[in-house]
Amino acid sequence: MALEERPDAKLDRGVIFLGPPGSGKGTQAKELAKAYGIPHLSTGDMLREHVGKATTLGLQAKPIMERGELVPDSLVLKMIAERIERPDCSHGFVLDGFPRTVTQARYLGELLKQHGYKAPFVIHLVLGSSVLLRRLTGRRTCKVCGEIYNIYDRPPKVEGICDKDGGELFHRPDDREDVIAERLQAYDKQTSPLVEYYRRLGALHDIDGAKSVPEVKAQMFQVAAEMREAR
Ligand SMILES: [Zn+2]
Repeated sequence: MALEERPDAKLDRGVIFLGPPGSGKGTQAKELAKAYGIPHLSTGDMLREHVGKATTLGLQAKPIMERGELVPDSLVLKMIAERIERPDCSHGFVLDGFPRTVTQARYLGELLKQHGYKAPFVIHLVLGSSVLLRRLTGRRTCKVCGEIYNIYDRPPKVEGICDKDGGELFHRPDDREDVIAERLQAYDKQTSPLVEYYRRLGALHDIDGAKSVPEVKAQMFQVAAEMREAR
């Protein structure tokens, strides 16, 4: 039976998403969270929320973020620990943007164990750099509403013009090829130990991210359904 016909389907697990910039990771993570009715936890959004509400954590994180530095593990973990204790996480949750390092992954594993969660599983979107370069260099952003187009995969009706409001589309400096190649290399360097860590634990599920969005989604739901049954 399709997931949509079973609103009672519970995932009861934490799901981690790994994938390079341009892999559609954020979109797919949100889709999975929506389908199972569980929260989508993006560390970036959570940090901004804490800063906005001026919580104790937010007040600690604010000056660090304002200096453009990375918020330390200890703070991020405190924030996640607090978040997964809330009742809406009791049937599972999706983590987007965390962990980024093996150290963080180990802490996260311990934290989840302490809170009585089953071991998390990882959706790993795998894409070659040529596909990513094409996707990312083709991006054009509307100056008015911020809508993102792609000259290869999702072109506007009129070249250079936003479909919604007629705003001018521009090429963000960080979407240029040399900058992207650097970003992808940095991502690989940082993430490959994490990928190996989860692979050794048997928690990693590779999905071909070069396929269409609906195909990736179908494969992701297949993995989630299997993991729901697994212990
Ligand atoms: Zn627009």
